[in-house]
Amino acid sequence: MESIQFYLPVRIVFGRDCVLQQAPGLFREQGQKALIVTGRFSAKKNGALDDVEQVLKQNQQTYVLFDQVESNPSMDCVYEGAALARQVQADFIIAIGGGSPMDAAKAIALLACQDIPKAQLFTQQPRGKTLPLICIPTTAGTGSEVTQYSVLTNDAQKTKTSLAAPCLFPQAALLDGKYMMRLPRTATIHTALDAFSHLVESALSKSASVWSKKLALKGIKMLQPYLSRLDASEWSLEDRDALLQTSLLGGVVIAQTSTTAVHLMGYPLTYFHHIDHGRANALLLCAYLEKVEKHEPASIQEILDALQLENLSQLNSIMDRLLGPKETISLEEAKQFASAAIQSPKSQSGIISLTQEDIENIYCRSFHLAFQRP
Ligand code: NAP
Ligand code: FE
Repeated sequence: MESIQFYLPVRIVFGRDCVLQQAPGLFREQGQKALIVTGRFSAKKNGALDDVEQVLKQNQQTYVLFDQVESNPSMDCVYEGAALARQVQADFIIAIGGGSPMDAAKAIALLACQDIPKAQLFTQQPRGKTLPLICIPTTAGTGSEVTQYSVLTNDAQKTKTSLAAPCLFPQAALLDGKYMMRLPRTATIHTALDAFSHLVESALSKSASVWSKKLALKGIKMLQPYLSRLDASEWSLEDRDALLQTSLLGGVVIAQTSTTAVHLMGYPLTYFHHIDHGRANALLLCAYLEKVEKHEPASIQEILDALQLENLSQLNSIMDRLLGPKETISLEEAKQFASAAIQSPKSQSGIISLTQEDIENIYCRSFHLAFQRP
């Protein structure tokens, strides 16, 4: 019998107005002063910040706003947030936003409690005390509200790097699709495709267990009715809730297995070409699946069954339509990115092992580059 481990120490609350209804008790348990970590604009417009402020005021708790988190948060941003948390003596952190504010908040929660020099942030395994963190996602993509990962821009290595440690798990996640009603069309597509990548990569991970795989396939089934119409202009509240649930499941499963080569290969696309995170994964996903299919056709068939598709070329057509015109990268870049990717253990975390040439090939197929063998 297969031995199974499943660890997810996050209280998950999902439902309409859950911030107004459940957060009063949750916030009170964490202390007197909150640091709210968020992006520059969206939380002020989508109602999430209003709800959080209302609860904190009603609880007579004090708070300070750090609304400087940019997409793909930098080291400077998280050190600045941590300095503020220390200066105001915050007892806990509330993150509102997409993956960027939630990931930044995890690093801030760590750095507020521990002196870690910038040069050691990516080399030292995080452990020990952090500030308690409550996450309120406002995109349906990353699942960061339930993961132990904080993905930050790593300028020294010219890529994005994950801090990964149990101490980075949030205490609680509060999820309500109402905050996503005005999420723009492109952000809806790209973030949902990030969730799709999490589910697919986790299902095809070497570390998948029977449970994580069942959940991943369940998430793919839940996404199926929406996948081909992610570019719709009208979204009901129920649709937003459904997308948020698939993204939550994506987070739950990558918290068990981590992501794989697709995410690894997507990071330089974001770093060098400023391609949105979810889009970067989606651009690479079909070529990766074609490679896996050659060695493990049954695993790809399970994913196709969950999507009610007959073959990968049907999935490719859906993805091509959703992604629209593709960015260009050069053959030289494909080679450089592949030579960096093969150094990472993540390149081997899927059910098939990849060579540097395989990775180069996936970039080339994804961007229609002529691949010249040496
Ligand atoms: P994001 O970078 O958090 O946000 C993208 C944009 O969407 C921002 O301009 C943001 O505006 C806006 N936005 C957010 N919520 C909105 C809403 N409800 N309505 C309108 N606009 C809204 O994007 P993301 O895709 O959610 O997160 C990507 C990041 O997460 C990447 O850094 C990626 O590496 C990371 N990630 C982490 C994990 C993990 O497990 N930790 C997994 C996957 C990805 P504002 O800036 O004004 O808020
Ligand atoms: Fe992701």
